[in-house]
Amino acid sequence: MAYTKFYLTTPVFDASFAPNVGSLYTAILGDAIARHRRMCGFDVAFLMGTDTHRASGADSFQNSKAGQTDSVDENERKFSELLKIAGVHSTHFEQAYSRQHAQAVEALLRRVLRRSHLSIYKGPYEGRRCEHDQIEVSDSAGPANCEICGRAAELVNEERYFFRLSSFQGRLTALYKSCLEFVQPAWRFEEIRRFVAGGLSDIPISCRRSKGGIPWPDDPDHSVNERCVELACYLSGVGFGQSESGADEFAKYWPANAHVASSAALRDHAVSWPAFLMAADLPLPRHICAHGTISVEPGETEEGFLSDSNLPALEGDALRYYLLRKAGDGSDVRVSSSGLAHCSRKDLDEGLVRLANQILTMVARDCHGKIPARSLFSSVEPTIEIMAADIRAEVRFLLDSFNFSDALGKIWSFMETIDGLLESTASFEHATDAGEKQRFTDVLSDACQGLGLITLLLHPILPATTDAIWRSLGQTTRLEDQLIDETPWNSLRPGKPIGKFEGLFHGAGKLQRAASAKPETNPGS
Ligand SMILES: [Zn+2]
Repeated sequence: MAYTKFYLTTPVFDASFAPNVGSLYTAILGDAIARHRRMCGFDVAFLMGTDTHRASGADSFQNSKAGQTDSVDENERKFSELLKIAGVHSTHFEQAYSRQHAQAVEALLRRVLRRSHLSIYKGPYEGRRCEHDQIEVSDSAGPANCEICGRAAELVNEERYFFRLSSFQGRLTALYKSCLEFVQPAWRFEEIRRFVAGGLSDIPISCRRSKGGIPWPDDPDHSVNERCVELACYLSGVGFGQSESGADEFAKYWPANAHVASSAALRDHAVSWPAFLMAADLPLPRHICAHGTISVEPGETEEGFLSDSNLPALEGDALRYYLLRKAGDGSDVRVSSSGLAHCSRKDLDEGLVRLANQILTMVARDCHGKIPARSLFSSVEPTIEIMAADIRAEVRFLLDSFNFSDALGKIWSFMETIDGLLESTASFEHATDAGEKQRFTDVLSDACQGLGLITLLLHPILPATTDAIWRSLGQTTRLEDQLIDETPWNSLRPGKPIGKFEGLFHGAGKLQRAASAKPETNPGS
């Protein structure tokens, strides 16, 4: 079978900053999209990356604060620990400022200078910079403080290279007209359209030469600025600017099918980046998947929410579910430890896990531990089967559109239907009448197949939990290898013994206590 490629990226993690809920969410969202696309039959390349150059270049920072290198290394370590807990796995990883990446940045700039030399010019620049941390703080002269150290940033007056973004307004407008889903969700796209319609300013793409920076081609007094360097990871990560084997990989994967970006970085991704690629005469990405700002509730800290004491008690799946259910439609949200605990208990423990336990217990007890068959001339309406066809199509469409919140809402309402039908036939469970007994078995058979579909559709969001349910259903194939469209209704073969079943459980006592102390409204609201 020939697979179509799907190339997906998340922004590189800047290890100058401690990981926050937003950076973790970006990674979880990317991982869930990658898993979903694989189950739709795509050959997925999922690129993540880090920027640790302030650690490697720290020896050049004469005024570097003590422990700067340590904190960059520590931030990177914490981030990779969080990814492990959340079950995030990329296929490609790019280290910004590595030698290979620096070559790609140079190749990209030379390409733009060769193909569109008028789009880059040198001019006077005024902005703010933190010399202590060697970072650009603001592109305007107004007072601003450094995000890392909090110091007042110094005014910078110097010559820089600029990208003539202003001349791309027409081409960007045409792009937005021809690609109606270029930015998703649509309301974020509308913000971008309005921004571009208001006129564009040129943007600086170099800064004064710094020792850790990537030198500007043929002008070593300047370094390529960070924004430009980080975006170039999307190209270099799949081989751009490298040897022949790199060229093959680049030809295979570029253009990206989707860049995941936060709303804060959306203009870089949806405006500057496509314009820069136009100047480089490179194909444009197909979609920008924008997510909102994820912050913690007042009274709680990012560190607290992601703290070492909190996280080991958590199952990564609960974290994935909570964040994707709340923020998976692209909106700005606030999260909290109590919200996470409440959601884990209510939706997972008392929802999915309880339903799976109930169905598996009934199969073990009433059907000799084998998936029951539906009778040929059943008197039971095929409600679950009919609904399943719609749910499969709707969830597939929503996940293709990066809308995890609504997809999860659909799956949970399907679960409620199954729950209701099981409840309505529960009284037939111990019936002596053969017809009533068969009616019960038929509903249980549909419930098993429904649970199989739920497990399939939820795998990108809850990989560990769904793997456990799949095995409990007696399946020996790897769930991640199942294709959503090619796993038919009745894929659980009747008569197949279910696995050894010891019950599934979720969440931790600690979290449950937090939830009962502080109830919260539905995570979807
Ligand atoms: Zn600073």
